[in-house]
Amino acid sequence: MNPAIAMSERSLHYLELEEKYSAHNYHPLPVVLNRGEGVYVWDVEGKRYFDFLSGYSAVNQGHCHPVILEAFIEQARQLTLTSRAFYSDQLGEYTKYITGYFGYDRVLPMNTGAEGVETAVKLCRKWAYEVKGIEEGKAVIIVCEGNFHGRTTTIISFSSDPSARKNFGPYTPGFKTIPYDDPAALAAALEDKNVAGFLVEPIQGEAGVRVPKDGYLAKAKALCREAGVLFIADEIQTGLARTGRMLACDHEQVRPDILILGKALSGGMIPVSAVLADDEIMLTIKPGEHGSTYGGNPLACKVAVSALQVLKDEKMMENAQLRGEQLRKGLAGLQSKHISLIRGKGLLNAIVITHPDPEAAWELCLQLKDNGLLAKPTHGDKIRFAPPLLITEQEINAAVDIIGKSLEALG
Ligand code: PLP
Repeated sequence: MNPAIAMSERSLHYLELEEKYSAHNYHPLPVVLNRGEGVYVWDVEGKRYFDFLSGYSAVNQGHCHPVILEAFIEQARQLTLTSRAFYSDQLGEYTKYITGYFGYDRVLPMNTGAEGVETAVKLCRKWAYEVKGIEEGKAVIIVCEGNFHGRTTTIISFSSDPSARKNFGPYTPGFKTIPYDDPAALAAALEDKNVAGFLVEPIQGEAGVRVPKDGYLAKAKALCREAGVLFIADEIQTGLARTGRMLACDHEQVRPDILILGKALSGGMIPVSAVLADDEIMLTIKPGEHGSTYGGNPLACKVAVSALQVLKDEKMMENAQLRGEQLRKGLAGLQSKHISLIRGKGLLNAIVITHPDPEAAWELCLQLKDNGLLAKPTHGDKIRFAPPLLITEQEINAAVDIIGKSLEALG
């Protein structure tokens, strides 16, 4: 479809600027936004939408949350960046707060999710050589088919998505891919004595919210423990109350050896990621061996403390659990012939669309947009529904009505 058809001059102006001057590394829905508050965003014409993407789960606390915003503004007036060449009055407080919050000895602060994953990979390798005693250069990290951990050269080296990899090689070695949600495959892969870690998403978000069978995470963790291998959880999308628990691993009382967080760690304000681990792992990295200019900057620290506190103060975990159940029940109640599957946990959900037109999921997202709800297809036929976690019962009902109406328009 040509988006120009349905757009005003003003929207078209901004859309064309992006199309002309920005790299074409995304395929956005034709809507131009300029304001956000809570579960809503507005386009430049002033039309309001439910945001059912939440910046790919970065805006768990809702757009422009007033408490996080206040922390942001206060710190932005005071001091934003020191680099790690000096101490700041914010980093120490933040590291104490977040390690206490999640129960780890130490945290390594970074910015984007991909940097968090890179950090975890480097930490795991360091630990493998300096603690576990694997011969240098031989360490293997097990990953899962269908994973999404970011876009760096190393991370795409172990992606199974051809569009993430094609013509970006040569690839980084040292990774072995096994099927997701398959403890037997993990057990077999762990027989290799050079395995140092198992990197996994507790729910595969980008793959279309693939929820593993109950017990998978606990079993995987037990297998890793037996084999003396680090269980590394990428909770960048699933963490921070999104699935109805603070971490998705909490559903199975699993404590990762290395925990990676990002996205909602700043409530959508600035890129903030973190890797948490205990001394045995974290202290293998020495001064000068890893870092980032912006990692642990005072502004990020202040914002992250506030973003984490808001999750607890506003009981977002509990709300995600309840509203998620309501959403899935509401979607099932639509009894649409175009939905072949509804899956998810808490407020990380997806539907799988069945329709003779392969573009139907995209068309449905256009319909949803026209009816006041923003969502985006992933992998062709799946649409993720992941609103901010403060969404109310009435708002879920209103959203389900919009989804029902839009499905009907698919014909
Ligand atoms: N890991 C997971 C599970 C993700 O969902 C994402 C982003 O969607 C990333 C890593 C990468 O995060 P970023 O885009 O901030 O680099």
